[in-house]
Amino acid sequence: MSGKIALIGFGSAGFAALMSIRRYDPRAEAVIIDPKPYDLHHPCGIPYALEGIVSPEALVQEVALKSMGAVKVQAIAELIDWEKKIIAAEGENGKIEITYDTAIISTGYQANIPPVKNINAFLRKGIFTLAVPQDLDAVMMAVKTTDSAVVIGGGAIGLEAAIALKKHVSHVTLLEMKDHILPGVLDADMAQQVEKYCAAQGIACRTGSAVEEIVGDDEFRGVTAAGNVIEAGLCIVASGFAPNTAIAEKSGIQVEKFGIAVDKHLCTSAPDVYAAGDCIASWSIIGGEKIPVKLATSAYKQGTIAGANACGMKLEYGGTAGTFVTKLAELEIAGTGFTSRTASEAGFEPVQGKIQSRVLPDYFPGENAVALKIVADKHSGKVLGAQAIGDGAAWRVNLISMAIEYGIPLDALPSMELAYCPAVSEVHDPLLRAVDFTLRRMKR
Ligand SMILES: Cc1cc2nc3c(=O)[nH]c(=O)nc-3n(C[C@H](O)[C@H](O)[C@H](O)COP(=O)(O)OP(=O)(O)OC[C@H]3O[C@@H](n4cnc5c(N)ncnc54)[C@H](O)[C@@H]3O)c2cc1C
Repeated sequence: MSGKIALIGFGSAGFAALMSIRRYDPRAEAVIIDPKPYDLHHPCGIPYALEGIVSPEALVQEVALKSMGAVKVQAIAELIDWEKKIIAAEGENGKIEITYDTAIISTGYQANIPPVKNINAFLRKGIFTLAVPQDLDAVMMAVKTTDSAVVIGGGAIGLEAAIALKKHVSHVTLLEMKDHILPGVLDADMAQQVEKYCAAQGIACRTGSAVEEIVGDDEFRGVTAAGNVIEAGLCIVASGFAPNTAIAEKSGIQVEKFGIAVDKHLCTSAPDVYAAGDCIASWSIIGGEKIPVKLATSAYKQGTIAGANACGMKLEYGGTAGTFVTKLAELEIAGTGFTSRTASEAGFEPVQGKIQSRVLPDYFPGENAVALKIVADKHSGKVLGAQAIGDGAAWRVNLISMAIEYGIPLDALPSMELAYCPAVSEVHDPLLRAVDFTLRRMKR
């Protein structure tokens, strides 16, 4: 079914779609429409560039598009006439029209700016987002003129930003409106461990602190939150991302609360127009309900499926467990699926098994430890989620993510064969002990 496939937006989802098109229909003509002056960027690396671990230049990348049989049009796509199959775009030299046989919308996200009094007056003048690599320049300039910073939002990006800012300024305060950091992905008891770790890194985490107002006259001076004034010379807003749905809305393509509406083949309400990545309304792989998960991993997976389906395949997307990992200084934190709290909210009766353990045998030197929690449904024995903090957090959570995706019940997990060597792990790994513990609690 070779034809012309238009990719609107070239981030994780667009790139994955192109790779998929090359695999499923190498003769298809691929046209990329994206306004970036370079081919790709790596948003996930931005906090680590602020921390000084990677160079800002490494966050942008050119791709050998020609050898991949693709051409790029540097432009912003504005409208899809899906009856005539024409995309109207605005490029450097004015308006252009691009015809297509199949199109994929992968326009990603934009930073969410919370409705806080005076915030818009200080955007890019003391208050910054970390959404694209260009945002870094302004933050790097701002840290040179102050010794204090405040971060709005206690999700993974806010925490990564706080750790990074600590490399530049003495006082960093992180404000989270919910009662603990990493809400929705960690339970309170697990999040408290991360809060303690952040405190040890010199970051003041204030939870239950919704920002009420930005303080400043000509210059940004701080924020008020939960009735307190927090003085600071700069602020990073990390309060989530909104799907970039402008083109879909303008083109009469159905959009829902969390993004562009798609079916299980990632097809939108317009014929021959697919959508993938942060711009879509994704859903839970466990319960099927719509959820606002915006992650590079799911964007890549969706892009792969949308690219294949644009080539005539009929692949299905099953949803996301929101599997994530972050690394704050030396601490690895990962999670997948429901927490105990979100599982209850979704109508399950969650049973949890939590352990805190060294990961190496007692006789082996080293302090490596992991805190691990598994959440399962008491009635069905279905694995609902996991959270881990510490050594090997990601790989342990990834195995639980696989159990969720493939419907492996909790009582099948004790027979999992895990690699062992005393310098790396225990012969009976903490993950297996957490599984055993959860099973025992389930039988009570
Ligand atoms: C600071 C930061 C850290 C992150 N860390 C992680 C992490 O550790 N792990 C993780 O899984 N996820 C992380 N994410 C999330 C991850 O970056 C996104 O989920 C992922 O980039 C989404 O991919 P996408 O292709 O949907 O969108 P994007 O990567 O945003 O790509 C969208 C592209 O569309 C283009 N575009 C937009 N509108 C138009 C238009 N009208 N016409 C043409 N082109 C358009 C944009 O220029 C952009 O290139 C992080 C995000 C940020 C900002």
